[in-house]
Amino acid sequence: MSPSYDWRDMSIQVQLYSQAAKEVIGKNVETGYIHTLKDNRRTSVPVDTESVDSAIGVIEWAVRGILDGDFPMRACPQNCGNCDFKAMCAQKRQAFKNETQPPQINTPAGLKTIAAFESNDGGGGV
Ligand code: SF4
Repeated sequence: MSPSYDWRDMSIQVQLYSQAAKEVIGKNVETGYIHTLKDNRRTSVPVDTESVDSAIGVIEWAVRGILDGDFPMRACPQNCGNCDFKAMCAQKRQAFKNETQPPQINTPAGLKTIAAFESNDGGGGV
């Protein structure tokens, strides 16, 4: 059975690398891949302009939030399940001061919302 992956972080990483390749070495990257060792598979990641702009938008949104002191506790199954601090964390879902959501991440599994905006039932919102 194939392991299931949360492609969001890996996709953003590849998309930022593709932007870095363009800016640093002047290469226009047309393809991006993730090689997963558990199943020895190579999976294509979208690195078109819109996908890369969305990845940058997510980072800009996160940095703005940090600079504004807007980084509430946002417990969610995806992040808390693998977190080293879950035994000592209240795992609450606090509201953001700024409700503006970041762009969706274009992953091999389609457009995905960042984990902080996922609700327990898989929908969006606070
Ligand atoms: S357990 Fe606490 S610190 Fe860890 S991801 Fe969840 S909310 Fe964040």
